[in-house]
Amino acid sequence: MASNHNTLTSSRVAIIGAGVSGLAAAKHLARHNPTVFEASDWVGGVWRSCTYGTTKLQSARVSYEFSDFPWPDRNDTAFPSYIEILDYLESYAKHFDLFKFIKFGSKVIEVRFTGEGETSQMDDLGAYGNLLPGKPVWEIAVRTRDGDAGDIQWHAFEFVVVCTGKYGDVPRIPTFPAKKRPEIFKGRVMHSMDYCKLEKDEASNLLRGKKVAVVGFKKSAIDLALESALANQGEGGQACTMVVRTPHWVIPHYWIWGLPFFLFYSTRAAQFLHDKPNRSFLRPSLSHLPLEKYGLKPDHPFEEDYASCQMAIIPENFFDEADKGMIRFKKTLNEADVVILATGYDGDKKLKAIIPEPFRSWLEFPWGLMPLYRYLIIISYRFLNNRKKQYCSSGTIHPLIPNMGFVGYVQSNSNVRASELRSMWLNLLMDGKFKLPSKEKMLYRFYKEMEVMKRSSRFYKNHCISTFSIQHADDLCNDMGLNPRRKSNLFLDVFCPYGSQDYRFDEEKTN
Ligand SMILES: Cc1cc2nc3c(=O)[nH]c(=O)nc-3n(C[C@H](O)[C@H](O)[C@H](O)COP(=O)(O)OP(=O)(O)OC[C@H]3O[C@@H](n4cnc5c(N)ncnc54)[C@H](O)[C@@H]3O)c2cc1C
Repeated sequence: MASNHNTLTSSRVAIIGAGVSGLAAAKHLARHNPTVFEASDWVGGVWRSCTYGTTKLQSARVSYEFSDFPWPDRNDTAFPSYIEILDYLESYAKHFDLFKFIKFGSKVIEVRFTGEGETSQMDDLGAYGNLLPGKPVWEIAVRTRDGDAGDIQWHAFEFVVVCTGKYGDVPRIPTFPAKKRPEIFKGRVMHSMDYCKLEKDEASNLLRGKKVAVVGFKKSAIDLALESALANQGEGGQACTMVVRTPHWVIPHYWIWGLPFFLFYSTRAAQFLHDKPNRSFLRPSLSHLPLEKYGLKPDHPFEEDYASCQMAIIPENFFDEADKGMIRFKKTLNEADVVILATGYDGDKKLKAIIPEPFRSWLEFPWGLMPLYRYLIIISYRFLNNRKKQYCSSGTIHPLIPNMGFVGYVQSNSNVRASELRSMWLNLLMDGKFKLPSKEKMLYRFYKEMEVMKRSSRFYKNHCISTFSIQHADDLCNDMGLNPRRKSNLFLDVFCPYGSQDYRFDEEKTN
């Protein structure tokens, strides 16, 4: 495809986004002097754009950590606030001198493939054979903060790492039956994303003395309901109603049997238990949360929510406020002055806004989920006649998005570790330290993983690897030629939790 504009070619690798994933990618690809385009004014991603006063990390501090940059106060068992997380990420960027790569206020609005060959005839791109082919294959259009609407710069790159995140930017708005739409309450209707933009006083004024309805029952919704209850303490205070259509399992913020929750699921031994769906060994310990009392006990097993990353941690005081009548639970929306839709984000739509055709149409094809090999690189195949035949037929399976990696699309109990490991992997792959398997093998592998996961949870629609994150890390280590057994002996390897520090490799092995 010929370009009809001036393109800048300052570096070979582009990274889109400077959240956790973009920072990890920039650190590990630093040798290539990457250009990082970040739409906002600073690093941190969702921790800056999707948080409110009460937002805290749900993972344990020590599991939300870069392997080569421990938290300063890593023995503190309290969940860090979003401000502490932002400080931590900023310190990481400073420590590894990443700011020099980042162009803030630079929103990527279009991406074009300029590599050789008609995209419609990509029978064998082979482009993954050479991730840095020596000449650009992608062009990226960037709108800068300072420029006016027409001020768009084009940049050309050999490889693009997409780190735009699954959350934030594009709200997911649910559909309501006619006559039951939130607008009928004449009050204010907003998405939690807009609530996040309010200053502290504005937020408190919005909630104080108002009948607030929060739609949803995940992390953002639960935090918001508590925030509303706290803003309504004392005279004139009103209860907040949570509109919960399908309850999902929630986890207590406190330690269970003297141990943090993550310990139960971050050992190899625990992950062995997940082969059979619908099995749960933790559920009995959740029984002292008053879920039944409030009609919040899900009909499905805990395991299904864990396998599909659907659970949220219940913050301190949440059920105290429910016991005081300040948080109520209903299945439908009845009466409200303010309706806040805490219904999540549409990360796929965000991606589709920049990925060009024909790649865009193939993003979720044929499983409704991006076919990411190692949850990082898109693989797909051309749909011809008979799907079944295609799985066996070697000529019809192709990597369809060449020279592009996706970091941050997997969900796990530690997304920092997930993004960091994938960035290391990408770096070594780019360096030619290992080769990708055949397209058929990549596709088959992804297909088998989907089969197992869809069997283990009816809610599986994300790239959630919580039940097999250690095995997945093993795969990445094996690819990179690193020993996946990270503990000093077999007993520890099976029964000790796996954490970020276990994946601290010698610099020379991963750089
Ligand atoms: C409220 C909340 C609580 C969470 N709690 C946890 C938790 O406890 N544990 C856990 O492991 N995970 C948690 N997560 C998941 C969290 O998303 C990840 O941990 C991680 O922060 C994601 O980082 P990211 O860099 O992949 O994406 P993001 O943080 O979304 O960063 C993406 C960046 O890309 C930029 N961008 C997007 N589009 C463009 C574009 N077109 N051009 C240029 N820049 C662009 C954005 O401005 C943003 O800075 C939580 C998420 C939310 C929303």
